[in-house]
Amino acid sequence: MKKADIVEFYARLAADNPHPETELAAGNPFQLVVAVALSAQATDVGVNKATRVLFEEVKTPAQMVALGEEGLKQHIRTIGLFNTKAKNVIALSERLIAEYGGEVPADRNALETLPGVGRKTANVVMNVAFGAETFAVDTHIFRVGNRTGLARGKTPLAVELKLDKATPAPFRLHAHHWLILHGRYVCKARRPECWRCIVADLCAYKPKTPPPAAASGKAAVAA
Ligand code: SF4
Repeated sequence: MKKADIVEFYARLAADNPHPETELAAGNPFQLVVAVALSAQATDVGVNKATRVLFEEVKTPAQMVALGEEGLKQHIRTIGLFNTKAKNVIALSERLIAEYGGEVPADRNALETLPGVGRKTANVVMNVAFGAETFAVDTHIFRVGNRTGLARGKTPLAVELKLDKATPAPFRLHAHHWLILHGRYVCKARRPECWRCIVADLCAYKPKTPPPAAASGKAAVAA
């Protein structure tokens, strides 16, 4: 995608949603780390449902360790892979207490060493909790980057590095939220809704999905 088109692409997403926010509920950086760690292969809605009561009770790593693995499992058993996730969350809470004074470090490399925290999680935490211009490439961003031509790559890391290079100020801080939301609600995996996409003319994906009425009309003519 050309530089001018990239600016226009982000400008439209920004105008449509000037203050994008994560859809994961969390009251502080620690709760955010936990919520993102729980969200792997689960929906934000599902995670929020499970953490609503948990986060009233648990706001710090010490409180999480006091709750314990079994206690945590009771809260998160509706979330996929909850056994492994409970183990990781307790282990990362213990590490935060032992090595970071019970605080979440504002350092991507340090975050990545925590149990159950990969580069994507670390990027989300750096961006949302600490205002860093990081690009957390999840399945939605990976798809949108590749389809549109904004940032093509075979791996999430390749897409992340391209986004980092291609995304200009002043869009860098919120870029990953705009792209996630665009992928989640418009540029959907199975059937991108190109007919109502505000960046359709800038996007390289072909053929564009026609509106449902046009699609059924064509089907009727073909029949
Ligand atoms: S035009 Fe279609 S493929 Fe391109 S970004 Fe929009 S929804 Fe996605």
